[in-house]
Amino acid sequence: MTADLYRTTRPGLLGIGNDGETVQVAGWVQTRRDHGGIVFLDVRDATGIVQVVVDPEGGVATEEVLDGLRREYVVSVLGVVTSRGEDHVNPDIPSGEIEIVASELRVLSPADPLPFQLDERVDVDEGLRLQYRYLDLRRPTMAANLKARSDAIRSMRRVLDARGFLEVETPTLVASTPEGARDVLVPSRLRQGHFYALPQSPQLFKQLLMISGVDRYFQIARCYRDEDFRADRQIEFTQLDLEGAFWGQEDVLEVLEEVAVEVSREVRGVDLARPFPRLTWQEAMDRYGTDKPDIRFEMEIRDLSAIFSATEFKAFAGVLGGGGTVRGINAGAKGLTRAGLDGLVERATSLGAKGLVWMVVEEDGSIRSPVAKFLSDTEQEAIKGALNAAAGDLLLIVADQFRTVAKVLGTLRLDMGQPDGHEELAYLFVTDFPHFEVTDEGNYAPMHHPFTAPENVDDMIESPDTAVSQAYDVVLNGSELGSGSVRIHDPATQGKVFEVLGITAEDAKRRFGWFMDALRYGTPPHAGFAFGIDRMVSILQGEPNIREVIPFPKTQTGSDPLTGSPSRVADAQLGELGVIIAPEVLAVWAEQEDAE
Ligand code: ASP
Repeated sequence: MTADLYRTTRPGLLGIGNDGETVQVAGWVQTRRDHGGIVFLDVRDATGIVQVVVDPEGGVATEEVLDGLRREYVVSVLGVVTSRGEDHVNPDIPSGEIEIVASELRVLSPADPLPFQLDERVDVDEGLRLQYRYLDLRRPTMAANLKARSDAIRSMRRVLDARGFLEVETPTLVASTPEGARDVLVPSRLRQGHFYALPQSPQLFKQLLMISGVDRYFQIARCYRDEDFRADRQIEFTQLDLEGAFWGQEDVLEVLEEVAVEVSREVRGVDLARPFPRLTWQEAMDRYGTDKPDIRFEMEIRDLSAIFSATEFKAFAGVLGGGGTVRGINAGAKGLTRAGLDGLVERATSLGAKGLVWMVVEEDGSIRSPVAKFLSDTEQEAIKGALNAAAGDLLLIVADQFRTVAKVLGTLRLDMGQPDGHEELAYLFVTDFPHFEVTDEGNYAPMHHPFTAPENVDDMIESPDTAVSQAYDVVLNGSELGSGSVRIHDPATQGKVFEVLGITAEDAKRRFGWFMDALRYGTPPHAGFAFGIDRMVSILQGEPNIREVIPFPKTQTGSDPLTGSPSRVADAQLGELGVIIAPEVLAVWAEQEDAE
């Protein structure tokens, strides 16, 4: 056989069935071992690894080549697939029963010594990994994450294609859309002093597509929000964005369920039970203290207020008298020391509680607690009953206003009950969100976004505090994967929402006049959703951080150590844009330069 350009087959495809064949493979030298005068190479490509045996005496490659051959050199090897013999089988790799006995070896590219080992077991600083992301991505876990992401996106497209969705691209240089985060702005050269925003989501464009007569739209959309970075946030991220005309909530949830089921099957090989569980926002807050409950474990919050309606215990009586609530969880048999219990109290106060009451149920059924002496026997029995408590159980009780109790107990529940591992996938829909939340300044802000339809328009105007919206979330293992809503499709209701939000008619006209106009030309009722793809894939892959499933992510401070973005630009470029750098910033730069 004459040598092909680089390869005739792939390392991961070879097995004992190829015994005796002459093949050519190409890839990276993963390891090199010299043994009894023979050189063993593990050659890796995207399909897997194969062992190559080179006898330096055999004229396979010059000694010079062999001597210099290091890790991550790129080689092409021609040779005969040969059974390794039982004693030398490597059960860890599919090609473990064979090796290639080389007759020709060519170096296609040398590699400098590596800045870090590509060994999965070695912990490498993330900054270094990001600086050399192309090396980092060669590691099997990262390669698997890239593949999972591609598989997930492919199955999304498959499901939506089968349902007649149209994939439509919307612009990335847009006017600012109000999704509630800070915009990423891009200065315009042709209209100096004006800025594009990068889309926080394609929200208004997908609504325009509904008005345009597109029946079902989707897009794998890159979105931008300039928020503080967290493990599950990036300045740029990818959503599966979709919208349907003549749709209500049920139509959206059905498609979402199918997408989630298909993606989970593709990436994790599991068959999920349908329909997914559902909770209203109020139920989620009552039972789990959060609108994104992790339902892989129970430890539900119980309302104990009725037990204390006539209590002598002043702390509880005071809270109840002030419109608050007393609630608790049964954290199970934790066997905590006094220091451990004090730690929980500290944790609760750091979360905003005025205190935390802990109780441990003793073997004889009595309650050990700093407050036991203030509680009647009836109250103690009722608490045990309500929290289903058995000997050894630790009960945690918080008395405060509802939001504080929910936050504190919801967080303690996660601290105390975090399930091990990530194997189980617990999807959940949360529906009936409040329409508005009240900001620190006392204004109303949309809980979802201003284009979400209220359950009832009159309620929304008369009692914005308690108004319910037609918004819904999908939650996976305690993380919000995405949200959506039924949209407002008439300009009058849209105007009323703006009013409650404190946006004057003038302001609304200036910012959204074009959209309000569009609503006037025959808008079908419509609804939609957006799934966070980075977050979904990271959970499916058991990665705690979305950066692990983003090929080229930014660091916590929004920079890219590989390409050096964000970077300064030449004065000439700034001049064209009509942008000048503020003197304070120039002063900081000068200081930094001096320090260097
Ligand atoms: N545009 C929304 C978001 O990005 C999702 C939606 O309502 O469709 O959160």
